[in-house]
Amino acid sequence: MVTAKKLAELVEGESVMEAESIAEADRDCPDCDGDVLTVGYMPSVTEFVTGWKCQDCDWSETDRD
Ligand SMILES: [Zn+2]
Repeated sequence: MVTAKKLAELVEGESVMEAESIAEADRDCPDCDGDVLTVGYMPSVTEFVTGWKCQDCDWSETDRD
């Protein structure tokens, strides 16, 4: 099982400061209909991002504008 921090780093593409626990997202992957995990994390002290990552493919997304 991937850790919250590792998942956040997969979504972000680089290391993050802090990550909350992983939860199963209430949505399917738009690319492959796979199960999606969600994680809240802080890439820096001033920013909090919610990220989503598919468990079955490389798709990921954040709530950044
Ligand atoms: Zn997928």
